[in-house]
Amino acid sequence: MHRATLIPGDGVGPEVISAATSCIEASGVELEWEVVEIGQRAVEKGRQPLPREAIESIKRTRVALKGPVTTPVAGGFASVNVALRKALGLYAGVRPCKLLPGLPSPFKKVDLVVIRENTEDLYAGIEWAPGEAGWEKVAGTARISGRPALALKSISRAASIRIASFAFEYARKNKRKSVTIGHKANILKKTDGLFLSAARKVAKNYRIRSDDRLVDNLALQLVTNPQELDVLLLPNLYGDILSDLCAGLVGGVGVVPGANIGDRHAIFEPVHGSAPKYAGKNKVNPAAAILSGALLLEHLGEQEAAGRVRRAVASVIKEGRHLTYDIARRKPVGTKEMAAAIVKRIKKL
Ligand code: NAP
Repeated sequence: MHRATLIPGDGVGPEVISAATSCIEASGVELEWEVVEIGQRAVEKGRQPLPREAIESIKRTRVALKGPVTTPVAGGFASVNVALRKALGLYAGVRPCKLLPGLPSPFKKVDLVVIRENTEDLYAGIEWAPGEAGWEKVAGTARISGRPALALKSISRAASIRIASFAFEYARKNKRKSVTIGHKANILKKTDGLFLSAARKVAKNYRIRSDDRLVDNLALQLVTNPQELDVLLLPNLYGDILSDLCAGLVGGVGVVPGANIGDRHAIFEPVHGSAPKYAGKNKVNPAAAILSGALLLEHLGEQEAAGRVRRAVASVIKEGRHLTYDIARRKPVGTKEMAAAIVKRIKKL
């Protein structure tokens, strides 16, 4: 019997996470969930957006399945997703984007894995509004004229070496062909330059093909020649953006799972957000959450069950009879109906 933390999230989170737990149950793996709430759902109950017991639960179980959580735009509480990754040291974001037969794509074959540094870069969200405490000092030091809002981009050698080592180890263990480092070191010579030099240094320890591309060129290559690329190693912000782009190459965010991994803990969650307009409508694709569940099973050492869940998802997609609106080739079904078809298939395999 395994124990894991379950964070249903908000928006469409509870629906897709319920689909994922049904699939895990159908795989026969015994898993006891500790259910915790974060974000808006916690706030509505008078709690902090990231309550202490949520962190403590994951520290105890070491592993969580999480639904998307809404982050208020331009105000409100800071991203609990970012805070959670920080609190648990989940420094590696891993997003496998593989084109399954039957998924809509302009390409025949796409098999990419985005590995994203999760802890620093602009994504740390360190900012100053004009006139805010600290603004004068930063603006003065950088000799900035006018009164712009400021954001801090920080990239350290230690974090860059850590994520590069993770990426090359991942490539080695998963028998991937190459690792491409994405950066903008022609302009951001010191921050992205540091990321690039650290990654190149790590690459020398591996017998895996490695190259690097400016991130704008990498975006172009991804939408013209994705079959030439394999593992992508990216700083935080570029990783965030390009992982959605990669999702678009393989059928959309509804089918791409994700993992946030640290040395001690791991959280598995779909790439997509809370899609508030679809909340409670039995509309969205549960596959990304179900495949995140498969990644969790694999992490727990349940390789056979994980493989069965994946094959069931692939088989239902290929067959094309029970698919949600985003990938349907005929009349779409709802989240529950697609999940039920996958559960049935898992039990048959
Ligand atoms: P989003 O929730 O991913 O939704 C964007 C669009 O993606 C949706 O309108 C829908 O496209 C499609 N989509 C999302 N999930 C889908 C699914 N399961 N099946 C099929 N299509 C799906 O992105 P967003 O609107 O930018 O973000 C909404 C909120 O989620 C924000 O507060 C954001 O901060 C948060 N968020 C949280 C996480 C996380 O918790 N890890 C990650 C990303 C975003 P169509 O409109 O074309 O149908």
